[in-house]
Amino acid sequence: MNSLLQTLSCLDDYDPNSLPVSRAQELILSLVAPVPGFERAFVRLGLNRVLAEDVIAPMNVPAHDNSAMDGYAVRHADLSGGGKSGETILDVAGTAFAGRPFAERVCPGSALRIMTGAIVPEGLDTIVIQEVARAEGSKVVIPPGQRLGQHFRRAGEDLKAGQPALKAGKLLRPAEIGLLASLGVVEVMLHRRVRVAVFSTGDELCPLGSPLQAGQVYDSNRYTLWGMLERLGCEVLDMGVVRDDPQALEAALLSAAASCDLIVTSGGVSVGEADFVRELMARLGEVAFWKIAMKPGRPMAFGKIGDSWLFGLPGNPVAVMVTFYQFVRPALLKLMGMSPEPLPIFRVASSANLKKAAGRTEFLRGRLFQEKGEWRVQPTGAQGSGILRSMSEANCFIVLEHERGNVAAGELVSVQAMDGLV
Ligand code: AMP
Ligand code: MG
Repeated sequence: MNSLLQTLSCLDDYDPNSLPVSRAQELILSLVAPVPGFERAFVRLGLNRVLAEDVIAPMNVPAHDNSAMDGYAVRHADLSGGGKSGETILDVAGTAFAGRPFAERVCPGSALRIMTGAIVPEGLDTIVIQEVARAEGSKVVIPPGQRLGQHFRRAGEDLKAGQPALKAGKLLRPAEIGLLASLGVVEVMLHRRVRVAVFSTGDELCPLGSPLQAGQVYDSNRYTLWGMLERLGCEVLDMGVVRDDPQALEAALLSAAASCDLIVTSGGVSVGEADFVRELMARLGEVAFWKIAMKPGRPMAFGKIGDSWLFGLPGNPVAVMVTFYQFVRPALLKLMGMSPEPLPIFRVASSANLKKAAGRTEFLRGRLFQEKGEWRVQPTGAQGSGILRSMSEANCFIVLEHERGNVAAGELVSVQAMDGLV
């Protein structure tokens, strides 16, 4: 039974010949689920991977009440302001350094010289920064206007013992790695890495290291795909170039499906070439051939071969990157164990007129720049779907929505920043 294809075809608004980008994104996310399998690993090995269980804080962070500044710890109630111009003069009982607690009790009426990070002894509740306090021999002069509790870091104000510090499904970025370290956590339970097979299809493709023959192009897609997948923390199986030949393609797909969670191919899904690929993929698994209402990247195959998800991306190098970021990336994040959130969209003025056909989403490569303090965006020159330079020069996608028509210079457009995309 063709369950995936049946599920798709039963949907009311499902039209594989004109699928809006947002609909394709929803369909993909509704179908994929985290890959099975977990492993415990040293916290550093968790970078770019996803937590498989909640991490409960085993202690308060900070562990003790401590000072956020260099200065003097005082009792706010002692700041009577009896001196001239409302100043208070207190005895200095000693000095507390970070990591060297001040052992004695500090009596009412006394202050303690204190360094950033040092424990604030019991009873003291306010820190006066050294820039405003004036040391005079064994005393300190505190000016008026000090706020109760200022510059005082409470034990547990960052994380409370017993509460979830990080939830399952959280992607571990440098902030989370540091946060785990701040709790003394040495090992974490992670979703296992997603195994992704990548190959390019096309008789015209020339591998790196060989001289280019007439009519050939270097196989760049496998390199951009490798880079995008590596940055997302996948285990990449690079299967090289597969000729436009049904037997070679079948062997490649079957071997990829046997060992990987996800197969990403490029080329061979456009109308001129799709027939034998379609027939083959349909025979090996459940694969939908979509014509997505977008530019670049209209044709795309999506489905399953065995237990492995398949994305058959178009061949044009820019289309590969655009479809990867719009469709493969969110699917991959879900396979990794996250609940992906939509990429943030910002609205900025376009500095150029933009041609746009209504009825499809267009992803232009743009450059965000500042002009008189305002952020604006301009397209990065020629936008052909084979022009990889347009991606390299870009720092954002200009997303021209499905219904939108031409854009006049000065109008607001939606942009997705590329930094932080992976
Ligand atoms: P296709 O989708 O197979 O018809 O390919 C569309 C265009 O993309 C053709 O001009 C191909 O030469 C080019 N192309 C396909 N695969 C690659 C690749 N791996 N690297 C660079 N260009 C490619
Ligand atoms: Mg081809």
